[in-house]
Formats: sequence, structure tokens, C-alpha cells
Amino acid sequence: MADTTGIGWTDSTQNPWWGCSAVAPGCDHCYAEALDRRTGGNHWGPHTRPRVMSDANWRKPLRWEREHATFAAEHGRRRRVFCGSMCDWADKNAPEGQRDRLWSLIRATPHLDWQLLTKRAPNIVKYLPPDWGKGYDNVWLGVTVENRKHGLPRLERLRDIPAKVRFLSVEPLLEDLGELDLTGIDWVIVGGESGPGFRAMKEEWAERVRVQCEAQGVRFFFKQHGGTRPDKGGHKLNGREYKQWPILLAA
Ligand code: SF4
Repeated sequence: MADTTGIGWTDSTQNPWWGCSAVAPGCDHCYAEALDRRTGGNHWGPHTRPRVMSDANWRKPLRWEREHATFAAEHGRRRRVFCGSMCDWADKNAPEGQRDRLWSLIRATPHLDWQLLTKRAPNIVKYLPPDWGKGYDNVWLGVTVENRKHGLPRLERLRDIPAKVRFLSVEPLLEDLGELDLTGIDWVIVGGESGPGFRAMKEEWAERVRVQCEAQGVRFFFKQHGGTRPDKGGHKLNGREYKQWPILLAA
């Protein structure tokens, strides 16, 4: 849980719990698992139990909600909160009762824009709250699209789910995704992998996604090329920065 973060497409992170299991090639170099290990944890894999975060951490978004007017005055918009940098909110192994607790927190913070990202697209509908309707005004729903085989079926599921904002995290981009139908998608983030043993992204793969976003009227955010360090390859695509955002609600 952090007031600020190095993740360029959000303002703050919130984790209801730490822990997850690999489900696809995008997980092969999971930075969250590495961080968990480095800090003495053992919360990854099917035979481990996630760690529920402290009440103090759960209260942080309530403080951000109280501070929303100040944030809006400084930034001209609402605070974005990425939920789940250290877990997957749609994991079937979520700790008992914690997902419902998360939805209660999201309902209690209507001036925050919650960014919920998952690699478990088949679980999304099952784990949405009963009053989801056409989507909460303050929730952006996203799926990871790291390759064709695993990522494109997630995109297909996402587009049929009601949400105020639907987004794709095309990171780590592992191959050319080919032709994309972005119907129903509002925003696409693209990035290459970083860290030891990173799988290099070709610039032409990212550019092909960008061109299709432009042609289909989808906002595009280029995060990074990746490399041994996140900033190693820079944040420009063919010499330009792309930091577009979905249409925002009023602050
Ligand atoms: S879904 Fe995310 S947090 Fe879970 S193992 Fe994969 S990359 Fe890590």
C-alpha cells in the first residue's frame, strides 16, 4: 500500500492481501513473488496461504477519500488506485471474506478511481458484487494481455462485462499480438518486461498495438521498453511519449 508508486499509469497502490499463483506465461518473472521472497514471505504457489494486509493499510484508501478535494485541486483529476500489485483480486484462493471487504471499501471511496487488473478473466463475473449493475462509477476493470494464446481470450471475456472503463495491460508484451478487435475497450497500456532474465519486447510489436488503438479510437499508454531495469529501455515509442488516459469522470 503506497501513497505514491513508480507505476506510471496509477497514483497509488492498494493490496488487500499478498499472495498468488502463476497462471500463465505473463507470470513467469512475477515481480510480486520476488518482492515477497526478498522480504521474507512465502505467499506464492497453490499450497501457500495469502497474507491479509493490516487494518492500517486497509484504512489508507479511506484517508485518500477524505483528501480527495485536495488531490483534485493539485492534480485536476481524481486519484487512481491500482488494487492488486501484490495479488490478483479475482483469485479463487483469496482469503475468506477479504474480497467482499474490498468491495465494501470501494463503495466507501467513491472519489477514487479503482483500477482492478486480473489474469483470471473467467472469474471476473463470479466475483463482482451483487449490485454491480452496469459497473461501479469508480472502478476500471482490466485484464492482462501478454500473448495471443492466453491474453486474447481474456480480452474477449472482458468486452462482454459491464464496466465504466475497460482496459488492457499489455505487459509484459511477449509477442506480436496480430490484429486486435478493441471493441468495448477504453484504454490500453503497453510495456516490456524488466528484471533479470527479461524477455525482450520488439518495438514493432508495441507500435502495432498503438496503431490499432489509434485507428479504433482507444486511448494508449506506453509504459516502458523494459530491460534489466524498468527504465533501462526508456519510455518512448519510436521517439515519442504516449500517456493517454480513458475519459475521466469529474473530480
Ligand atoms: S497473476 Fe500477477 S501476482 Fe499472480 S503470479 Fe501472475 S503475475 Fe504474479
